[in-house]
Amino acid sequence: MRRIEYEKGKHQYSIKKCVKGERFFLYTRNEESKIYPDLLSNQKRILSYNIKSKKGGFFIMAKILVFNNDTDRMETYTRAESDPMPYNTNGTLRVREFRGSSKSNILWTTKRTMQSWNSQRYIWGSAIPVGFAFKRPYEGGHGSQSQHYAGVAFDVGQTLSATRRRALWNSANSSGVWTYVEPISQTPTWVHWDKRFGKPACSSGGYPLIKRGSISTYVLIAQDDLNTLGYNTGGLDGIFGARTQEAVRNYQQRVGLSVDGIVGCNTWRALQEAVVGTGATSTTIN
Ligand SMILES: [Zn+2]
Repeated sequence: MRRIEYEKGKHQYSIKKCVKGERFFLYTRNEESKIYPDLLSNQKRILSYNIKSKKGGFFIMAKILVFNNDTDRMETYTRAESDPMPYNTNGTLRVREFRGSSKSNILWTTKRTMQSWNSQRYIWGSAIPVGFAFKRPYEGGHGSQSQHYAGVAFDVGQTLSATRRRALWNSANSSGVWTYVEPISQTPTWVHWDKRFGKPACSSGGYPLIKRGSISTYVLIAQDDLNTLGYNTGGLDGIFGARTQEAVRNYQQRVGLSVDGIVGCNTWRALQEAVVGTGATSTTIN
């Protein structure tokens, strides 16, 4: 589903950009749990819907999938752009900051990544400006094995002075809370840190092998790639079930990879190279 920017103060929701038949996440301020996923499916209804008088304001909310590393389960949250990310403390990381330039309705991360942020923010002691964090693979960004797609990476400090940014890099490097802090020589105007997890499937690094039964944000990346390429995984949920396995097998068969239903080094490479930066397709789940 597409995401439209909520325009504060507008009583009538701006639907100029809407197309009849499109669906959106729509929530009210007072009834956050009540979802109107198809309210905007009919353009006439949208035009006549007075937001202020009916509900006191609508917000487009992001769906945030969080892999809980403690329970090995996926959790789902619904948050406004100005809300803190799930597991974030003291409002130091808003949804809009984590999203950065991503236009996706669906975001994902891990509980551990958010906890690492909390720790790093506490150690640093003041605001950490985020330039770039979450991306969908099709939205592009770094290279094909970028940990940003797993929702576990941040590029920060772009607006700090060079001196202050170096201090932030030192802080991150010595804090011990991140799995990886990119060498300062490779990040001249930002600091990259991430909470990647699992053993890379390729010797050169990247994402870990995933297969039937796997649950994580890495499964979300594979599902996102497969759906965007037209191989239906039956949902975007981070759970590697029968449908995802079948989609992997179909993809492997089509592109001439060995058909084992497992996303290892070669399949990861093929999937990511086919999807990164291509933009969403009609089969992308959003
Ligand atoms: Zn980065």
